[in-house]
Amino acid sequence: MSRFLWNPLTACKAAMTSLSILSKWSVPTRPSISLTLTPNFNASEHIVSLSAILVVQDARQVNSGDVLFEMKMIEGNVPSNDYQGSNSLKATDDNGVLSLSFSDTSNGMRYWYPSRLTEGIITAQFEAFPREVDEQTPVGPRVDLRMDQGGIIGAANSFIPVPPSDDTIFDIHLNWNLTAAPNGTTVVCSFGDGATSSKTGVVDILTTSTFMAGPIQKYTQKIALENGVTETFGVYWFGSPRTFDIEKGARMSADLFAKMAQFFKDTEESYRIFLRFNPYRGFGGSGFLRSFVLEYDPYQTIEENVLLYIFAHEMVHNWPLMEQEAEGDSEEGAWYTEGIADYYSRILPYKFGLINEQQFMQAMNVEASSYYTNPNRELTDDEANERAWEDVAIQRLPYSRGAMYLFDANGKIMEKSGGARSIDKPVLELLRRQENRQKHGLKEWLLLMVQELGPRAEEDWKMMSRGELIVPISNAVGSDFKLVRSDQEPWELGFSSSSLSSRIIGGLIPGSRAAEAGLRVGDIIVRNDVVFNSADNYERNMTLLIKRGETEINVSYWPRKWEKVECWQWARHSEENSRLEL
Ligand SMILES: [Zn+2]
Repeated sequence: MSRFLWNPLTACKAAMTSLSILSKWSVPTRPSISLTLTPNFNASEHIVSLSAILVVQDARQVNSGDVLFEMKMIEGNVPSNDYQGSNSLKATDDNGVLSLSFSDTSNGMRYWYPSRLTEGIITAQFEAFPREVDEQTPVGPRVDLRMDQGGIIGAANSFIPVPPSDDTIFDIHLNWNLTAAPNGTTVVCSFGDGATSSKTGVVDILTTSTFMAGPIQKYTQKIALENGVTETFGVYWFGSPRTFDIEKGARMSADLFAKMAQFFKDTEESYRIFLRFNPYRGFGGSGFLRSFVLEYDPYQTIEENVLLYIFAHEMVHNWPLMEQEAEGDSEEGAWYTEGIADYYSRILPYKFGLINEQQFMQAMNVEASSYYTNPNRELTDDEANERAWEDVAIQRLPYSRGAMYLFDANGKIMEKSGGARSIDKPVLELLRRQENRQKHGLKEWLLLMVQELGPRAEEDWKMMSRGELIVPISNAVGSDFKLVRSDQEPWELGFSSSSLSSRIIGGLIPGSRAAEAGLRVGDIIVRNDVVFNSADNYERNMTLLIKRGETEINVSYWPRKWEKVECWQWARHSEENSRLEL
């Protein structure tokens, strides 16, 4: 399940999956996993590593040829902690020292095997180190353990080996040992604040959780839902972000979350947003268990509407997800999971009164423009999934394409039902099945859609997945608005996007606006705008600070092709012939 991305949303769906989380009644015989983490500090009182003790109490014995622990060694393009050599896992069981061997598979998993039949309680010890990063580290899923302004932040699946993921229900306990920690050290994870927290469910609950320790700042709020449930909502960060107003963002997101939780009939206990500072560059979010990580850097000023969109998008990932048919196909169903997140991140803030009509139109037109001017718009769903990591534009395709498909479907359902129903009906029905642990895949979605729209619903979906152009019916977001044809130039970076990682311009397209602006092959990239900004915003320029010989040069250009393509924008119904500004 891991689609981690850069743009606001890269990687977002990352750890999102339908997890089985049981309520708190306990059965005495239930297997348990206890994880104790001890932060280690340097002389400046910065956390430099985490010592971990993992205790697994499970009635099952593991044979020498069977898997005792597993860990994902790479998530997208982000490597995990590599426990070997002097930092190998050290394990014991009731019969004493348990030596382990491991093997790595081609799909990025590492499996540890015991040298003999295990007996009783298994204890594993290891030390997790933050990943060493520099300005050439490519942006990727926010899973890796990183140092952050004296603290540390990372997702369990990048540094905690766990029993093989299956349907076994564990009591999962997390303990932080803070006896040697300096004053002011606090801790939090996806499922709890404070030095001890517990949750019951499958092992994936642990692997899809993010951990944070150090001089944490936070904003928390209790949120009361209609059904009597009270949730804890929290935003956590280190230092003081200067590129946006974190206090304001936290209040805004709490408000948004409270309303969304009601809309999706949430019944969970908590939701958390973690911020990660990247001193080089990196901007975007990755989703985890009832939480997400927003990464920001010193260069990118985050406008309020963008922040609202990111928060909204990531929060939606708490609820509707499409079940995957193929095991391990992380991009399958991205059109739904990301499309739904984009759809509701545009619709709900307006519906809740958090943005005005003009801001809504602007948001809708950003979405439409992002779809129509995506240079890879004609890729089939399968092609887009396979090539998602090649290029940010390919990665973004399921977001806007899925959303456009959903806008169209919404319009058609409203039209057919005379305004009585909307896309909310099949979406909430699929979500109900997901929560009841029933089938909630593509087949079920199409059945629900056929109930609403007849057989054409299936053809609409096929057209989308074949990459055919989607032009939603005109009243797709209500009769106040209509679609107006307004052609635009497709996005074109003008050089190879891998240059952004290698930091040297390559693959420059002759005659492109990038070339006309003066970029040359071999220019060293000192600094650059996040590419999704211009990919998602039609009028946005791309700016780079490059170094050529001893000279630093600012290059700014409009990263668009010269020829326009078919594009549609929303406008108010009353404004005949007017085109809304983006
Ligand atoms: Zn997403």
